[in-house]
Amino acid sequence: MRKQIVAGNWKMNNDLPETEDLILSLKKQVKTSNAEVMIAPCFVNLYHAYEALRHQDIEVAAQNMHYATNGAFTGEVSADMLASVGIKTVILGHSERRAYFNESDEDLAKKVDTALNKKMRAIFCFGEELADRKSNNHEKVVEERIKNGLFHLPNEAWKSIVLAYEPVWAIGTGETASPEQAQEMHAFIRKTLANKYGNDIADEVSILYGGSVKPNNAKEIFSKPDVDGGLIGGASLNAEDFYAIVNAF
Ligand code: PEP
Repeated sequence: MRKQIVAGNWKMNNDLPETEDLILSLKKQVKTSNAEVMIAPCFVNLYHAYEALRHQDIEVAAQNMHYATNGAFTGEVSADMLASVGIKTVILGHSERRAYFNESDEDLAKKVDTALNKKMRAIFCFGEELADRKSNNHEKVVEERIKNGLFHLPNEAWKSIVLAYEPVWAIGTGETASPEQAQEMHAFIRKTLANKYGNDIADEVSILYGGSVKPNNAKEIFSKPDVDGGLIGGASLNAEDFYAIVNAF
């Protein structure tokens, strides 16, 4: 039975007092769904968030990490550093990392390897640009991202991988893929996995949708059979909205 997950990607938002406030507000919310809940604050607030949520049903994840284990990589953060402050899950390959920090499929394949070697879970993100969808190349692009980033993995690695399909044209734009478009792509992603790894593995991988998920559209998107949750940007910065999405299952 695959997991339902709702993960909030706070991006470069919330300093320490704001992080404290938002966590306090999150703690006041009531969860009625079975979904796993996760938030991903910025690096400097991870430890605080981890401590503040230690005994809660909310996991704290990182938004990124380097593939090297340590060394001369000024400004970077390693898997061991994350693990040492309690982090067990890392988001990799977000479209903003790919676009603004030139993260390539090759870099991401290495990051995935490092995360798994360090016994972390990776939320691997990918999605097509608007031009890819307009030219009907969206499936090809998504297939490439998955193959290049993940198809070197052995079968057993997949229990530590969560996929996040995030069409770039829907991130932070207010434009959402329709529930039908999301389902169509998620089914394609699962079929792509099944072709390589078999149905048993493909059926167990959680595939999240990301791109302007809000309280008013989450229920319909999450009702689709291959959509196992969401990676939430803007709406995760408001505790009530975020929990309305968590409870949309
Ligand atoms: C994201 O950052 O992964 C995202 C989906 O953002 P938003 O929900 O704001 O579109």
